[in-house]
Amino acid sequence: MSYQHILLAVDLTEESIPVAAKAVALAKLNQAQLSLIHVIEPLSFAYGGDVPMDLSAIQEQLDDHAQQRLNGFCEKLDYQVTKLYVVSGHTESEIHRIAKQDEIDLIVVGSHGRHGLALLLGSTANGVLHGADCDVLAVRVPD
Ligand code: AMP
Repeated sequence: MSYQHILLAVDLTEESIPVAAKAVALAKLNQAQLSLIHVIEPLSFAYGGDVPMDLSAIQEQLDDHAQQRLNGFCEKLDYQVTKLYVVSGHTESEIHRIAKQDEIDLIVVGSHGRHGLALLLGSTANGVLHGADCDVLAVRVPD
């Protein structure tokens, strides 16, 4: 079984580096395409109608900043990246949407060994696994 197109989900924290290293190693091994996705959860998700002001200018700045950081992250990878997605929405749903759209056959995410309440509440890796049409690799990262 070889993978043709790998989607690496990047939250742009420190842990993205070891997770990306695994995705790159797999891409090399399979001579696969590698695409990256970073999802921005819109401010309106968190604040809804609670904040009586227009959040669009702040949102735009956050989006631009994330795009720049993802470009920088991508440049440091030792692999040619096919597509770079900075999308807005619910993280798990957006990862699933892009995976379907691009016929991804492996999604790579980071995973913490969560315990107790955090485990009950779930994680992005859990959310991505449930509902994915393709394989999902959860790369263990230190807490
Ligand atoms: P978490 O469970 O939220 O700590 O995230 C674990 C992993 O999910 C990260 O290492 C990323 O692979 C992925 N992830 C979390 N948040 C995002 C995001 N906003 N965009 C893309 N991937 C994410």
